[in-house]
Amino acid sequence: MKAAVYQGKGRIALEERPRPVLQDDEVLIRVFAASICGTDLKVLRGGHFRVGENDTRVLGHELAGEIVAVGRHVGHWKKGQRVSAVPNIGCGHCEMCRRGLNNMCPDYEAFGIDIDGGFQQYMTVTAKALYGGNLFEIPAGMSYEEASLVEPLSCCFNAWKDLVVTPEDRVLILGTGPIAGLFLQLAKAYGARQVIVVGRRAERLAEIAPQGATDTVDSSRVDVVEEVLRLTGSRGVDVALTCAPAPELQVQAIACLARLGRVNFFSGLNKGTKVELDTNKVHYWGLKLLGSTGSSVEDYARALKLVETGKIRVTDVVTHRFGMAEAVDAFDHALSGKGLKTIIYPQEESLQ
Ligand SMILES: [Zn+2]
Ligand SMILES: [Zn+2]
Repeated sequence: MKAAVYQGKGRIALEERPRPVLQDDEVLIRVFAASICGTDLKVLRGGHFRVGENDTRVLGHELAGEIVAVGRHVGHWKKGQRVSAVPNIGCGHCEMCRRGLNNMCPDYEAFGIDIDGGFQQYMTVTAKALYGGNLFEIPAGMSYEEASLVEPLSCCFNAWKDLVVTPEDRVLILGTGPIAGLFLQLAKAYGARQVIVVGRRAERLAEIAPQGATDTVDSSRVDVVEEVLRLTGSRGVDVALTCAPAPELQVQAIACLARLGRVNFFSGLNKGTKVELDTNKVHYWGLKLLGSTGSSVEDYARALKLVETGKIRVTDVVTHRFGMAEAVDAFDHALSGKGLKTIIYPQEESLQ
């Protein structure tokens, strides 16, 4: 089989590998769609604390496929079932795992990080993943591509649920990547009265705005805080999300919040980055500063329903699709920052 393999900092190559050998307590899936995430690019650039600069790993944690073999000690799962997976597998016995927060487990393992992930034609679903409830059957009408994108949506949903957005709320989304696109759709689905998206490239703003924005702000041309205040009648926004790893966005988000405003710092910053915040505003205006990372099995289940019912059209954030022979090109493309989501179809030779 073919696999796109991370071979150390900055190197990814297509390899011919033997199909994974199935253990009695595992499931083997044929991967049909695997989406490239910012985290994959981060690993490739050599910046992930769980993947060393000299490690070898099949990346990819946003994936879907079909079960082709089932170990003899595995119950429930059958050959031919269409499945997708929650990537973070908890240890199962820590304080966080006991609360169902597999994404917060300090000893988690993850597909495409610690164990081989989706950018290969066949992938093993480990016993731990099966016991952790990390494997999901895909609803009948859902495509593999949609199912692969439930994962990033589930991370967005994890952030979203604590922001408690209502139809009275004005929402500010800072960033114009695929994650920003999913938040725009969530804001629309939850009926937010105003949804403002901020970006520094006009073409990206134009590309992403149709996903649910009522207003756009080009940060290369205007002052973000002044413009957001103007657009909200000097009131500010109730909810803000930072969706790019730029420290100034966090400062802008707080400056744009109205009284009792909530913010989620969704995008992580480079290690060691410190940001100076107006904590007096947090105090006097009763702000809520939130963060979130990854998604729990529960978040994933709920995101799957949002896609199944058509409330969120995840494929609207997909702009490029590649076959397996073009996997390296797919990464080059994603690294270039052009377009939104890039999907690899491991069973296709070429889609370009
Ligand atoms: Zn991801
Ligand atoms: Zn744990």
